[in-house]
Amino acid sequence: MAVYKSIESALIHGGIYGDQHTGAVNVPIYQTSTYEQKGLGENTGWEYSRTGNPTRAALEALIAELEGGTAGFAFGSGMAAITAVLSLFREGDRVLISSNVYGGTFRVLDKVFKNFGIGYSIEDTTDPEALEKKITPEVRAILVESPANPLLTITDLAAVAALAKKHRILSIVDNTFMTPYLQRPIELGADIVIHSATKYLGGHSDLVAGLVVVSDRALAERLAFLQNATGGVLGPFDSFLLIRGIKTLGVRLDRHVENAEAVAAYLQGHKAVKKVYYPGLPDAQGYEINRKQAKNGGAMISFELKENYDIRKFFSSLRLIALAESLGGVESLVCHPASMTHASIPYEIRQKVGITDGLIRLSVGIENAGDLKADLENAISESEVR
Ligand SMILES: *Cc1c(COP(=O)(O)O)cnc(C)c1O
Repeated sequence: MAVYKSIESALIHGGIYGDQHTGAVNVPIYQTSTYEQKGLGENTGWEYSRTGNPTRAALEALIAELEGGTAGFAFGSGMAAITAVLSLFREGDRVLISSNVYGGTFRVLDKVFKNFGIGYSIEDTTDPEALEKKITPEVRAILVESPANPLLTITDLAAVAALAKKHRILSIVDNTFMTPYLQRPIELGADIVIHSATKYLGGHSDLVAGLVVVSDRALAERLAFLQNATGGVLGPFDSFLLIRGIKTLGVRLDRHVENAEAVAAYLQGHKAVKKVYYPGLPDAQGYEINRKQAKNGGAMISFELKENYDIRKFFSSLRLIALAESLGGVESLVCHPASMTHASIPYEIRQKVGITDGLIRLSVGIENAGDLKADLENAISESEVR
């Protein structure tokens, strides 16, 4: 059936292409909640849009194909996707999470699932040998991000998947920072991939969405049940927007990464910069592992300015790069993890995992790299305490 071999073409032609009734090259927005039945028990395969909607189904088929999984599921946000996946577990189960996991993932485990008797513990997933010792009988899954937010820590996804297989537990990867264009965890052995599609997949900072892809039929049935039972589905219009965004993912990411590499090199050579975290730099933690499992270092950079630079002044002096939560859009965004994305993580834990008050996270957009460097240069020089 597929007349293409590469992901660049799959981004555009994957899943369900166009509309067979009219020849429209785009899947229509089926803005409907229900579907007329010919008679009792005689439906068209569509019954109610929480259970299934053709526009959402096209998106779900597309992300499943891109990630190399069995089935895809679209949700109203990344957190709704994560919540559905965590609903696989029951009282007494425990989930191991990376120490730099997304703040909202930590929060939903700590403030919601803990109340239902599902436990978690924060582990250094970069060390598979140490991680294996933490797999006690109640542990049912390992949930990792690579690169992890915000220090861009790399975890060996194949090693974690192998550990999970050995202990008959699930390996779950939040692939938001890489997308299937740069990294495909299921090919590395993962059971479940999660996305905040709000970020690179949507790509234009104009929607909030989440996706899940599973690697086998049994998990697909369980996720389909949970999606319908808990109901956090993505609407038809946002599903359409997301399909639209995914078509340009390849060209966008090529530019995102080209710019990120230029900005990382610029920051690393700057006298005001104490440390740069970017998986594409040869001296970065996990550089070799990332090269093995991903196409490149992605487009997220974190860095710390030296003590004689005022970080508040730095943020207020940026003119092109916007101070905002989120990432992965065409526009460059900067944030302060300690007070923004990771504020829900207690101070002591933040210090322990290296999310210092001086840390700056940059989502490198697709503007001109020279303009981005000039904006950073200006803000850095404005923030120097003389
Ligand atoms: C943003 C984000 C989420 C949460 O997704 P929402 O779409 O904001 O609900 C989860 N994981 C990662 C890595 C994220 O960056």
